[in-house]
Amino acid sequence: MNQTTMRRKLIAGNWKMNGSVAANAVLLEGIRAGANGLAADLAVCVPAPYLAQAQSALSGSVVGWGGQDLSLHQAGAYTGEVSGAMLRDFDCQFVIVGHSERRSLHGETDAIVADKARQALASGLTPIVCVGETLEEREAGDTDNVVSRQLMAVLSVLGQQTGKIVVAYEPVWAIGTGKTATPEMAQQVHARLRALLVGVDPVAGPGVRLLYGGSMKPDNARGLLAMSDIDGGLIGGAALKAEDFLAIAKSA
Ligand code: PEP
Repeated sequence: MNQTTMRRKLIAGNWKMNGSVAANAVLLEGIRAGANGLAADLAVCVPAPYLAQAQSALSGSVVGWGGQDLSLHQAGAYTGEVSGAMLRDFDCQFVIVGHSERRSLHGETDAIVADKARQALASGLTPIVCVGETLEEREAGDTDNVVSRQLMAVLSVLGQQTGKIVVAYEPVWAIGTGKTATPEMAQQVHARLRALLVGVDPVAGPGVRLLYGGSMKPDNARGLLAMSDIDGGLIGGAALKAEDFLAIAKSA
């Protein structure tokens, strides 16, 4: 078996700030109903108020669930924040960390993202660590530097835990814009991220799943997911329709 076949693909939905109890019920039931027998792992990262709903709809199914962010702190006077332990209380397996919207709209620095990844692991959650360059950075030829800096900030605080994370490459210019990186463009960045992971941990690095995110849809997923270092997708808009989400998972 080579290293690629050892990595089972993961298709994770990022619902962002979308949903309602009524709409989620339809979406979760649709995903659950179509999830059996797929060759990929599936998960949905839902807004915190809907964690109990995701837990009750998905318990006993093959679909995992998670949060979209977590606090740096464990408990206390942090109004509005949600701790890793609270996510675990709802049986979350995953939490997204360092999404570009958190970085740009909430001022999350590389150091904060690294701390959150560490906090997630300490809470028993798998962090889905997002990295990605803006359009300006890509046009300036800085893509490699930016994603390397973002990933190394996290890896440098994890100690022996490199193998416990998932990484998502999400070019900022492709998120929610309908513009997707070509499979070759994405693979080039994924290969760079893989090299960093393997450099830090030659044993665990080859097994870390590298997701692509940025306008992944049923009609472009197959090409992206066929690349040797693209081990799944982090899906925004297309995760809000069970049919589209499952179609992406089927092409994995
Ligand atoms: C995301 O926000 O993680 C994302 C990939 O969004 P979209 O699929 O809508 O581009």
